[in-house]
Amino acid sequence: MTKQASISGLILAGGRGSRMGHVDKGLQPFRGKTMVAHVLERLAPQVASLAINANQNLATYAEFGVPVWPDDLAGFAGPLAGLETGLRRCQTTYLLTAPCDSPFVPTDLAARLLAALEEQDADLAFAATQEPGQRVQPHPVFCLVKANLLPILSSYLLDGGRRMDGWYKDLKSVEVLFEDADAFRNINTLDELRSLDTGAAPRLQDVTSCLSAYDPDALPVRDAQRIIREFVQPVRAIEQVALRAALGRVLARDIVSPIDVPAHDNSAMDGYALRGADIPLDGVARLAVIGTVYAGRPTELVPGPGECVRIMTGGVMPTGCDSVVPQELLVEDGEREIVLKAGTIRAGDNRRFKGEDLKAGSPALAAGKIVRPADLGLIASLGIAEVPVQRRLRVAFFSTGDELRSIGQALDEGSVYDSNRYTIYGMLQRLGCDIIDMGIVRDDPAALEEALRSACENADAIVTSGGVSVGAADYTKQIMARLGDVTFWKIGMRPGRPLAFGRINSNGRSAFLFGLPGNPVAVMVSFYFFARAALLRMMGADAPLPLLRARSQGAIRKKPGRTEYQRGILTHGDDGAPQVRITGSQGSGILRSMSEANCMVVLHDEQGSVAAGEMVDVLMFEGLI
Ligand code: AMP
Ligand code: MG
Repeated sequence: MTKQASISGLILAGGRGSRMGHVDKGLQPFRGKTMVAHVLERLAPQVASLAINANQNLATYAEFGVPVWPDDLAGFAGPLAGLETGLRRCQTTYLLTAPCDSPFVPTDLAARLLAALEEQDADLAFAATQEPGQRVQPHPVFCLVKANLLPILSSYLLDGGRRMDGWYKDLKSVEVLFEDADAFRNINTLDELRSLDTGAAPRLQDVTSCLSAYDPDALPVRDAQRIIREFVQPVRAIEQVALRAALGRVLARDIVSPIDVPAHDNSAMDGYALRGADIPLDGVARLAVIGTVYAGRPTELVPGPGECVRIMTGGVMPTGCDSVVPQELLVEDGEREIVLKAGTIRAGDNRRFKGEDLKAGSPALAAGKIVRPADLGLIASLGIAEVPVQRRLRVAFFSTGDELRSIGQALDEGSVYDSNRYTIYGMLQRLGCDIIDMGIVRDDPAALEEALRSACENADAIVTSGGVSVGAADYTKQIMARLGDVTFWKIGMRPGRPLAFGRINSNGRSAFLFGLPGNPVAVMVSFYFFARAALLRMMGADAPLPLLRARSQGAIRKKPGRTEYQRGILTHGDDGAPQVRITGSQGSGILRSMSEANCMVVLHDEQGSVAAGEMVDVLMFEGLI
């Protein structure tokens, strides 16, 4: 980090904080200090001098020992008003801005923006990031500006311009790509702030103490699931993506319809639009056809009494018409005249009302939904091109064990190939996570600590396999426990049983930890029934798994008092009803029977052995979508 003598820094804290419930964002506590203090601390070593632009609580801001400048322009005109204020007072060639709610602002921001600006001989430079497979996301509030541009900015503001990226349209600007999108994350809501602030997060003990009986050595599945659900917290960063890129992502906000769908009363059939009053009560009615309405073409036709209009499906209903008689129901269907019999239709039939699918202003999709093909279509039908989604969850994973070998290595005596890293890869990929594969970690305390710390500093969640069972080398657990708030369970289930869960910290970052057992089937079952729901919750998703009921083809032996997950094959019986049979051997190391299965049979705690023909709960592996 180098101090740039030609740059003064300005922290933008002049907003109303309306999204945080009208609190002063910069002064919110975050990890032991205020948010603005984090930004000050990170910017100070980079620039010649610093100032804060604020419009409220000026005295409190002044306590940081730097000048505090309110907007010269009245009325909370936004960050540009702050920039103008800063440029007016700037004593150096350049001014660097950063918002007060970006506690992770990069420590090389000034140096990199300046280098790019000078190299390209530009007027201003700002930061940008790009997530894999996404468009470049500009961050114009993280901006280095030549101080002599003040007149251009002022005239833009005078003309009523307020867009942070609108004033430099005619200037030469450069985008500088930074690696870490999180560094530019600004924190907009108090919830988001709390979820990032590990100090404010609950402790495991707070959660477990809510259970009436808590025994970590004999924990029922549903209690473990409940503790995990209550302990993990959603990651609240949001990004705006193009509609197609939203497939499989989690909606971060409700999608509100900007329009009525359909936009007009229209016909549900190919037929004739008419007035309900012209439908005969008995006998037949002859109606004159005065023209045709096609879908997508507005009509001026207004049929009078005794008249009708030929109309296509989707055609806008002519004024005065409230019913449509389908072509095929007519007694006679002529070009000039139709003959309609009593009782064929009732008034109001076959008309679709404006806004009957969706009213303008009503929510079309709820936040938390995972976007599926139908949702893409629905959003498109509203004319919406970009969608706010949760940022992808970052999950690091590794396998532990001296006996493990990677593909390509020789399999010496007593060693096995590491398969868990592949099943975990597949399961995380299917959930739509960004994954960090950290390989195999030896049963060695230093290596394990190093891996856990690095995972923690780079990911939101960590999934490990092996080393948590009774026989395993003790220090796996010791190190996990030393790095944070981690508990070790023996869960009443089969396969599975040992599970480490909690949150670890390293260098100011924290991550949720799922220490799964090592056996290849146990690792999958533990992932599906514990980690999956937790990760989805962290992703902000609402995606419950429905259990099906199916007839068990054979008898299944089962001890009450624990949950058993048996690998099954679901088919349809002769009567068409679902039936399930167990795939051969259920040993917790036998991946083949997992691979052959298309479902899991879930036998609950209280259940005993199942007789052939009895109904059981089943969870399908694949769905339609
Ligand atoms: P552990 O929980 O570490 O005692 O491991 C339990 C069993 O799972 C041992 O037989 C290990 O060899 C096996 N195992 C652990 N990790 C893996 C892995 N990544 N791939 C395949 N088998 C594993
Ligand atoms: Mg091991």
